[in-house]
Amino acid sequence: MTAELICFEERCRSRYPITEVIYNCPRCGGLLEATYGKPLLPAEELKALWRTRRTSNAPLDQSGVWRYREFIPFLADYGRVVTLREGKTPILDGRLTAEYGGLERLWFKHQGFNPTGSFKDNGMTCGVAQALRLGMTRVACVSTGNTSASMAAYASAAGLQPIIFIPHGNIAYGKLAQALEYGARTFQVEANFDQILALVRSLAERLGIYLLNSINPFRIEGQKTIMLEMMDQRDWRVPDWVVLPGGNLGNTSAFGKGLREMKDLGLIDRLPRLAVIQAAGASPFYDLMQAEDRSKLRAVEHPETLATAIKIGDPVSWPKALHEVTTSGGVVERVTEQEIADAKAVIGRAGIGCEPASAATLAGIRKLTKAGVMKSDAEVVGILTGNVLKDPDFIHQYHTGALRGPDGTQIQPNFGNAPVVVANNVEIIENMLQS
Ligand SMILES: *Cc1c(COP(=O)(O)O)cnc(C)c1O
Ligand SMILES: [Zn+2]
Repeated sequence: MTAELICFEERCRSRYPITEVIYNCPRCGGLLEATYGKPLLPAEELKALWRTRRTSNAPLDQSGVWRYREFIPFLADYGRVVTLREGKTPILDGRLTAEYGGLERLWFKHQGFNPTGSFKDNGMTCGVAQALRLGMTRVACVSTGNTSASMAAYASAAGLQPIIFIPHGNIAYGKLAQALEYGARTFQVEANFDQILALVRSLAERLGIYLLNSINPFRIEGQKTIMLEMMDQRDWRVPDWVVLPGGNLGNTSAFGKGLREMKDLGLIDRLPRLAVIQAAGASPFYDLMQAEDRSKLRAVEHPETLATAIKIGDPVSWPKALHEVTTSGGVVERVTEQEIADAKAVIGRAGIGCEPASAATLAGIRKLTKAGVMKSDAEVVGILTGNVLKDPDFIHQYHTGALRGPDGTQIQPNFGNAPVVVANNVEIIENMLQS
């Protein structure tokens, strides 16, 4: 089964060896993706094989990514793959949040259960495997946080040096802490995400560092398995909708590619519709979907949102994401800071919890059901992308009424739960607990 890289642009479709160190098509600058021949086993046998591996103690079988290696066959040899047992994330019953979302039932596939707390781990185990195979010794990324945390962990675990570039003063504390703890060389640069990306691209070329940014096609391959695992967990029953937050749109691209490939292989019989939710202050993809001319995305110059994981003004993967949303009959919605903050607290109160960007999922569902785009009896899987502990400052400020949006407006703690200061007095506390 020969794996190749292929240019995503319809008018080009140039092919390159899978081992070529390129991030964009050398001919046209287009995005690249991995492509494969047909797998050796028919759909039913693949499903049975993947199910059997769940009882195996072999490290690769325990990974929710590599368990499905026939679906991402870009490696010639699995001997050097480093797994931290990524994936294997649960689909949780979101019944306590369904009413808020305007739905009868709701499920959350919670990627925050990953080893470093976000879905970036699904992709990073693949990106780092490719770096090892290419003989690289250093890897780098620019990140608003979770990519850094994930790359730091996987690179260090693989004996590679992780180098991280972060927009100065724009990162949730939990994520920076992880990058430092996992041993990454960390540079905070005084520029925005898109500017730093240009800087790092030129550094990578000069110094022979492998780039693990979100356009890296091998990260996309790993993130495809989120959809495969979801279908496996649902016994291959296709939901009506899959809802996820959109920043750089790598995950949207990965989900769409994964679902299309599953349909092509006969693993599923139809595609769910993708609903991508952006923060209103960083919604260039939403704007693109509204525009008559969708041939060019207009970047948002100063993206603003407290949901730092989706604070992206110029999403690199938009051509792929546009194709995937269109192919699935999907939609793009945008939500306010207040809507994100409230949805997050509702998810928390249900005992589930997630980081701010993830909550855009529920805020978007609420908006789409209100607008009648999503029916109340639809079968919906929302993707929660990151762990609740990623951004503790946000949580404390919300519940104590101290949270302010990027423009300074106060976020109302509509579902606030502030701690109460009391004297060390049994009667007083007893009285309070009885009321
Ligand atoms: C990276 C990330 C996103 C955005 O994903 P894209 O692939 O950039 O669209 C959303 N939520 C969390 C928690 C993330 O880490
Ligand atoms: Zn091309």
